[in-house]
Amino acid sequence: MNKKYIELLEILCCPQCKSDLEFVEKYYFNTETEDELLRMIKGKEISGYKCSKCSLLFPIIDEIPVFLLDKAIKLQNG
Ligand SMILES: [Zn+2]
Repeated sequence: MNKKYIELLEILCCPQCKSDLEFVEKYYFNTETEDELLRMIKGKEISGYKCSKCSLLFPIIDEIPVFLLDKAIKLQNG
């Protein structure tokens, strides 16, 4: 089911630091946000791509991986 997203890992890198990304299958997003796109996933369990170096999670929203820095979710602990 998530195979296509995992395959993408080989070609993707963090848009900020160019590090390799890690696939996160389940992340519960519940941060207050004014962002319209991020509000769509608030209170939901999503998948995404994590950059450990930047502590950012790039969410997959409506099956589309979003690699925009202003939509990236800041992770509390790596
Ligand atoms: Zn990064």
